[in-house]
Amino acid sequence: MMIESKHVHGLDHNIGTLPELQGLRPAAIIFLGPPGAGKGTQAQQVAKEHSLPHISTGDVFRTHVSNKTALGLKASEAMSRGMLVADDLVCNMVAEYIQSLDHVGCMVLDGFPRSVAQAEWLDRFLRTRTSGMNDLPHSAPIAVQINVERDQLLRRLSGRRSCSSCGRIYNLHFQPTRNDGICDYDGAKLQMRPDDAENVVRERLTVHEKNTFPLTEYYRRKGQLREIDGNDAVEKVRAAITRVTRMLTI
Ligand code: AMP
Repeated sequence: MMIESKHVHGLDHNIGTLPELQGLRPAAIIFLGPPGAGKGTQAQQVAKEHSLPHISTGDVFRTHVSNKTALGLKASEAMSRGMLVADDLVCNMVAEYIQSLDHVGCMVLDGFPRSVAQAEWLDRFLRTRTSGMNDLPHSAPIAVQINVERDQLLRRLSGRRSCSSCGRIYNLHFQPTRNDGICDYDGAKLQMRPDDAENVVRERLTVHEKNTFPLTEYYRRKGQLREIDGNDAVEKVRAAITRVTRMLTI
């Protein structure tokens, strides 16, 4: 089934009334958006609320890097420079994850796909996975793109710190700790992701901008794209996303 694309630049105010989403059963909800757009937070919440499996390719790569696996060693160089990991490595990792699931319904993808080649691979993979399943009338994914201004992203990413013990996330500019560099909850030291250093952040944003347009167009052309204004507070962004997901059958 094709759904008509209603693109309003950067705005989502008419999302709630789009009849063509009603009852649609997507094979996946993909969160697209630049690093720092809040995809991870939003993807986790949607997955939790609807009990859906969730994969963040960035998180999986970070685990591989810290466990020094063969995949981690292959991915780490590109990651430390803010570049994309090779498509075949990413796609194999995602295939392995999806094949390990009991669940055949909708899943949440965060940070994947990041290129048109990955999106084409995903379409083929999902078609094969759901072929012959009559209770899954729509095997195509829905892409939810969260748009945020570049300056805001730079502040969000270069100010991001996390607790080395409990993992709580803070921000030097928007959500500082009471004591510099120390977690409010457990007093452990805060750490910074190596790829949140400002020069790497700039590279990540540039890589994203280069890949985004073709990827966005890929989903827009097929009527599978919804855009959300991510400059707002987390709760407002969440509400806009809920206006999309509540229409879907997931
Ligand atoms: P993220 O946490 O999503 O910003 O991802 C961190 C890093 O992991 C990226 O800068 C890339 O180096 C790598 N990565 C994550 N997802 C992908 C993907 N779909 N394709 C290529 N590289 C990826």
